[in-house]
Amino acid sequence: RFAGVPKGPEDAILGVTVAFNADPNPNKINLGVGAYRDDVGLPFVLSPVREAERRIVHAQHHMEYLPVAGSRTFVDKAIRLAYGEHNHHVKTGQVASIQTLSGTGACRMAGVLIQRFLPALDGGPRDESPLVLLPNPSWANHAAIFRDSGCAVGQYKYYDPATKNLDFEGCVSSLEDAPDGSVVLLHACAHNPTGVDPTPEQWAKLSAVLKEKRHQPLFDMAYQGFTSGDMEVDAASVRRFVDDGHRIVLAQSFSKNFGLYGQRVGCLSVLTDSQEEALAIDSQLKIIARPMYSNPPIAGVRIVEEVLSDPELERQWRAEMKGMAERIISMRTMLKGYLEELGSAQNWDHITNQNGMFCFSGISKEQVAKLRDEHSVYLTENGRISMAGVTSQNVGYLADAVHKVTK
Ligand code: PMP
Repeated sequence: RFAGVPKGPEDAILGVTVAFNADPNPNKINLGVGAYRDDVGLPFVLSPVREAERRIVHAQHHMEYLPVAGSRTFVDKAIRLAYGEHNHHVKTGQVASIQTLSGTGACRMAGVLIQRFLPALDGGPRDESPLVLLPNPSWANHAAIFRDSGCAVGQYKYYDPATKNLDFEGCVSSLEDAPDGSVVLLHACAHNPTGVDPTPEQWAKLSAVLKEKRHQPLFDMAYQGFTSGDMEVDAASVRRFVDDGHRIVLAQSFSKNFGLYGQRVGCLSVLTDSQEEALAIDSQLKIIARPMYSNPPIAGVRIVEEVLSDPELERQWRAEMKGMAERIISMRTMLKGYLEELGSAQNWDHITNQNGMFCFSGISKEQVAKLRDEHSVYLTENGRISMAGVTSQNVGYLADAVHKVTK
């Protein structure tokens, strides 16, 4: 029956790791995948996460199903991290929310909710699929997620390769030119893949443009903490929109800031105008989740709950989160410094100007191939460097290789 199924393409990002693993060069460097590494290049488990794990094992919990919407305790803690302790909507039960299969699952749930329920601007039924606008470029999976959710996918201008910075005028004008009432996906901080975030003033303007156009903001917050090292500072874009009266949809991931990648810990929330509306959306989120996966995994949320229920563990977590962000920032400074010392004629200011886990290096597709074939340095074709894979041991080798291929 399935004999006619064509072989599909490999995932571009995951393919980089496959090629890396097959390379025997002892100096090889994997700068493909967006997962934090410590300064000797190893996966990093935060010490409060280890301690929480220890306590959880000791407590000998049952392993029964969670409810369809997941752990209430976890979800409450997640939305407080995003919206802030004192948010009025959170305090008064006007936020619909569900535990999700990490950030990917949160985006997917958002896509289905939007596809099923986003009304036309006059409040009536829609005759077309809702349009979700993604920044150009965006995380490669976004387009597939929203397309598979039944939404139409478009783009708005975001990155300017000439300045290696935000094309803010282009961004605003493409959002102004889009059909009124479109859904606009915004990376809350540490934009993937470009590392380029709007300034506070630019966020304020974007908020005004979205209001004017009655666009629906959909925030993807996969890297809270990774821009500034501070969870509160990195939530500023989300909180600004909320303060401006937007009824946002928010996808949160705990993969990066808790280092819980494989545990699949995330949350989707929708800010509403009343408890009644929040309860109605809650009910629909459960109806969407139930036939897909019945209920979410329990192990990862127990860890987050344990850490966030103990002020000392929470303090350690915030400190180690900051440590991860700071290590990445120091690698940016070192990489740029080495390139300058080597006499590179290029301008590398963007390495330190960009934020979060990634540097959108401007290295061409051909140069990426040379880095791989001649130096065993692996990055995605678009020139994105995962700064988390750079260490004080390999940064010199990396700078040398980058200099050689960009001369
Ligand atoms: N959004 C963005 C922008 C991402 O970069 C990622 C991870 N690469 C995710 C969402 C989701 O990751 P996860 O499903 O592991 O939380």
